[in-house]
Amino acid sequence: MPVYYLSKKMLEYELNYTQLEKTCLALVWATQWLWYYLLSQKIFLISRMDPMKYMFEKPALIGRTALWLLMLSEFDITYVTQKSVKSRIITEQLADALTKDTKLSREFSDERIMLIIDKRNLTTWTMYFDEASNSRGKGISIVLVSPRDEHIPISIKLDFDCTNNVAEYKACIAGLEAVVSLEVQDLDVYGDSLLIICQTNGNWLTKEDRLILYHAYLTSLMKGFHNISFTYISRLRNRFVDALATLASMVDIPVGVKVCPLAIKRHVIPAHIHMVQIAVRCPDGKPWYFDIKNLISGKGYPPEASLKEKKVLHKLASRYVICGGDLYRRSFDGVQLLCVNEDRAAEILEDVHSGVCGPHMNDKMLARKILRLGYFWTTLKAYCFSFVKTCHLCQIHANLIHVSPTELHSLTSLWPLSVWGIDIIGKVSPKSSSGHDYILVAINYFTKWIEAQSYTSISSTSVPSSSGPTSSVDMESLMS
Ligand SMILES: [Zn+2]
Repeated sequence: MPVYYLSKKMLEYELNYTQLEKTCLALVWATQWLWYYLLSQKIFLISRMDPMKYMFEKPALIGRTALWLLMLSEFDITYVTQKSVKSRIITEQLADALTKDTKLSREFSDERIMLIIDKRNLTTWTMYFDEASNSRGKGISIVLVSPRDEHIPISIKLDFDCTNNVAEYKACIAGLEAVVSLEVQDLDVYGDSLLIICQTNGNWLTKEDRLILYHAYLTSLMKGFHNISFTYISRLRNRFVDALATLASMVDIPVGVKVCPLAIKRHVIPAHIHMVQIAVRCPDGKPWYFDIKNLISGKGYPPEASLKEKKVLHKLASRYVICGGDLYRRSFDGVQLLCVNEDRAAEILEDVHSGVCGPHMNDKMLARKILRLGYFWTTLKAYCFSFVKTCHLCQIHANLIHVSPTELHSLTSLWPLSVWGIDIIGKVSPKSSSGHDYILVAINYFTKWIEAQSYTSISSTSVPSSSGPTSSVDMESLMS
């Protein structure tokens, strides 16, 4: 079975495409190159996303999407969902390893490549180290990255004078010591000190007296690993560790104080966003698009608007167009959406969600459906969310989850004290002080309650009187 591969470096403007559009582009590009091979064959397309579905379902086919669809129409392509990553690994690899020369030979001379296996070891840790020095002192820092991508930052302030190279050695040694304590066997070390990297790799000799001892200790630490590699990276790629080292050098840490690990979080939205309220209805009774429509129809800005507000309005209005007296908004896929006021919006919501053919869909689906039908208002998503939440029928007929939140255990007994398990221990030797040498143990099946009693002799007459609830158990058969 011949395996053909193609790879292409995306042009600058192509990088702005959405992920789906990039997949479409790859498909179209590949079909053009392999036109001769593909034309007469049935093609099974294995991909993360279905580009064919995307193109066919686009409500307005314009621009490049329409062109792509036309180009693909001559092929017999069937989309197959991707089940295993194995068969796709070559494509992944090729997409990662780009070449500048996008002109590929149609002959595919290198047919020896049949399979590319990802040999990344899942036990390999990564370590970054760096030092920083300024007028306040010296600091070193290490970031350990586990195979599961957990980052462990370590920052140490150096309380003695030393050269930068010594500090770099200290950082590398402190990192290795930390890794050794975690019993890691495979390690990749990255640092921006060319001296340390080259000396540990054996490319450069260590001649400076101060460094010889550090180097010897570092070499002895390296013996504790199965695989260890040292790689030089530029200062730009080592910025996180550099920042931590600078932090350690800047602060004065009192003796005996252990600073807890830093938790660095990432905020993608400003905090004040939570305070923004959705303007449900304009206070003066005008529709929300009143000012936009006025501006586009040439009536100018509202008289009370400030310069800043005028700018915002101007920017907003660029996406709207008036057609037949109605205001439309241009959507991403080229459809003109009719702008509706609040009263009309409520009717549309009701119709689409719970009208004649309304399937009582969830809020996201509802919003998408309304956009697909060609309506728009600014608070569409918030409206859909609150509408679905308050729909009475949705509350009654929604799928109820009947699964118990805790794990279920089978019970042999339906209610407490209904069934008991009874056993006799004996004859016990030596006898107890009261002369008893039999123990009768009864366990309730439901509650696991245990009762125990000792006897001099066990008979069908002596036992039921004392054990009460066991009377239902056939003692005679037990005795025999
Ligand atoms: Zn509903």
